[in-house]
Amino acid sequence: MAQATIIDGAAIAAGLRRRAAEVAAKLAGEIGTAPALATILVGEDRASQVYIGAKGRACAGAGLASFDIRLPADVSEGGLVAEIEKLNRDDCVDGILVQLPLPRHINAHRIISGIDPAKDVDGFHPVNVGRLWSGLPTIVPCTPQGCLRLLRTVHDDLTGLGAVVLGRSNIVGKPLAALLVAADCTVTIAHSKTPDTPEICRRSDILIAATGRPGLVKAGWVRPGATVIDVGINATTDPARGGRVVGDVDFTSVSTVAGAISPVPGGVGPMTIACLLLNTLLVACRRRGLADPTF
Ligand code: NAP
Repeated sequence: MAQATIIDGAAIAAGLRRRAAEVAAKLAGEIGTAPALATILVGEDRASQVYIGAKGRACAGAGLASFDIRLPADVSEGGLVAEIEKLNRDDCVDGILVQLPLPRHINAHRIISGIDPAKDVDGFHPVNVGRLWSGLPTIVPCTPQGCLRLLRTVHDDLTGLGAVVLGRSNIVGKPLAALLVAADCTVTIAHSKTPDTPEICRRSDILIAATGRPGLVKAGWVRPGATVIDVGINATTDPARGGRVVGDVDFTSVSTVAGAISPVPGGVGPMTIACLLLNTLLVACRRRGLADPTF
């Protein structure tokens, strides 16, 4: 049985991190200081702590400064907004990232809207979301940006390809659909209320799964030769899966049908962090009226 080409996100991300380090060094030489990312983590969610730790290490590895702000789980919404406003005003801070999810008593929309759009390295502020859908220069959210970069390693031209995105979250599914539309794909967004999802998937040249449902996508959902990008990061305690992180795609069966597939781990995850470095450098340049760096 033919095996799909594995899309090596870890290697592609390593190349982007090297390029980020070059750009950061050049920029630091020009502006006299390292570009800086401030991250805010509220509470003690274990996975969020791991992500924030990885983001800080990636910044250090590329020569970016990072400020790691930790707030207690019971911080008030007003207290968090005040912290963000301080960072908005701080000229030493280029990018601001608030780690999601936030505790239930905090309205995430209000928090994201409080970030200066020019420092919004996640690209989640409504102004940046609107600019993305309008085809204007913006800050492209990290995970969707990473997915598109992986797709472009397989397809020189995405024009006219049919793409299905499983999931409609504001952080992955919707911005990814916007990027694919902008790349001239014909896009379907499927979600938990969509009937006949397997049939929709089987018609698609590109299938991107961002559902948080481990192993949802089976071989029978995939058009032979299609490109499959697995965004899912699902912790499993299933001993059959080695108690490790798995994606939304049943990798073993799907890789016998797909033309190319991104693995979990080692696919989209490292790309997300690499794209965060790129976005931090982008906002650092734009804030100073410098040309966008190329990555
Ligand atoms: P989310 O906010 O929970 O959204 C999940 C989406 O999947 C929802 O739109 C939901 O539909 C849809 N869905 C659920 N079951 C479905 C089904 N059977 N068929 C089709 N759609 C279905 O999750 P998220 O934040 O977008 O994250 C999705 C996954 O990506 C998670 O595993 C997360 O850990 C992972 N992730 C990875 C990275 C990375 O860097 N690799 C970054 C972010 C997220 P409804 O809207 O109808 O509920």
